[in-house]
Amino acid sequence: MGPLDWVDEELAQLKRADLLRTLPPPLRAAAAVVELDGRRIINFASNDYLGLASDKRLIEAATRATRDQGLGRAASPLVCGRAEVHDALEQQLANFQRTEAALLFPTSFAANAGIIPALVDRGDAIYGDEKNHASIIDGCRLARAQRHIYPHVDINALESLLQKSQKYRRRLIVTDSLFSMDGDLAPLSQLGQLAEQYDAMLMVDEAHAIGVFGEHGRGVVEHFSQTDPQLEQRVHIRIGTFAKALGVAGGFVCGTAPLIKWLANRARTYVFSTAQPAALGAAGTVALDLVASEPQRRKSLLKKADALRQQLHRHNWNTAPSASQIIPLRTGSPARTMRLSQMLRDRGIWAPGIRPPSVPEDESLIRLGLTAAHTDQMLDFLVTTLQEARGSMGPFP
Ligand SMILES: *Cc1c(COP(=O)(O)O)cnc(C)c1O
Repeated sequence: MGPLDWVDEELAQLKRADLLRTLPPPLRAAAAVVELDGRRIINFASNDYLGLASDKRLIEAATRATRDQGLGRAASPLVCGRAEVHDALEQQLANFQRTEAALLFPTSFAANAGIIPALVDRGDAIYGDEKNHASIIDGCRLARAQRHIYPHVDINALESLLQKSQKYRRRLIVTDSLFSMDGDLAPLSQLGQLAEQYDAMLMVDEAHAIGVFGEHGRGVVEHFSQTDPQLEQRVHIRIGTFAKALGVAGGFVCGTAPLIKWLANRARTYVFSTAQPAALGAAGTVALDLVASEPQRRKSLLKKADALRQQLHRHNWNTAPSASQIIPLRTGSPARTMRLSQMLRDRGIWAPGIRPPSVPEDESLIRLGLTAAHTDQMLDFLVTTLQEARGSMGPFP
């Protein structure tokens, strides 16, 4: 017996419950078609929504920046880690989101984990959607504020929580804008109104929506601003990542100049973490330029997603409340999810099964992440293959 024996027992328990995750074979690069187990397979597992992760222009910018400015930054941005390109990129981000200022973080997981505890503390309250991303949940846990979790997108439940709790010093409402598993949008207009009415801060994480939603690719806030001109100013804290549609890596926050100054002082994941390599900043700059100059990427992506969703509905697939490039297929159980995922993989389609703890057991799903690089032929093949796989599995509930 040793002090680590519990690990074997825990792993065995996960395996018995069909919940053991194993690492997939490593890939050479992110793309719509990748090599897996020595075979070519169509990849619906990535968040490379605009097909930029292997774009030559990003790679070129990163390479040039590395040659000019070296690789590691060797210190926190507050000490001596900041590069010129970081400064320029923060300005570009602020312009892009039409805020006064912006701040880069190592990742957007780190942004959420550091920013939320910098906004609220003892005597304050947080109101979060139950389906918020893990990084938001962890940020809330790290804050010493009282946590209130409201049922998914349930505005009435949120309002009654806000009504019942007027005694706090500061209040923060926090939500994903585009939910990462079900692919649905948060009711941001209503959230903006509640924030205004109850004098709460509103923080919105656009990780899956930056570059995809909105006329200029700013995200779901921009998308709903078309019908609600006050929304942009009602969202006080806007989180995003370069790691998904933008094809690079790194997180960021946009907001007022004093807020950004406060976060640079107090967000521990900013203060105590090394600045990102200049290469990432340089590639991020190009990615934001491409969001502006190549709007057809996001337009065709959302059009393809709509068409695919309709086709799946005709075949009676349950795509939950998806309204985006993230399309879940609910199967009803972790076991069925993993079986379907494996059958797809055997037939040349990589679509990961998502199960607890990422989702509740009965909401286990196959997650399809569409990208601008998926062709119509690939999507037709996906639907045919899904039909074939389900046919050999027997009826779904
Ligand atoms: C993916 C995701 C993150 C984490 O982004 P990274 O930059 O990869 O750390 C944060 N928030 C949400 C809502 C996400 O979906």
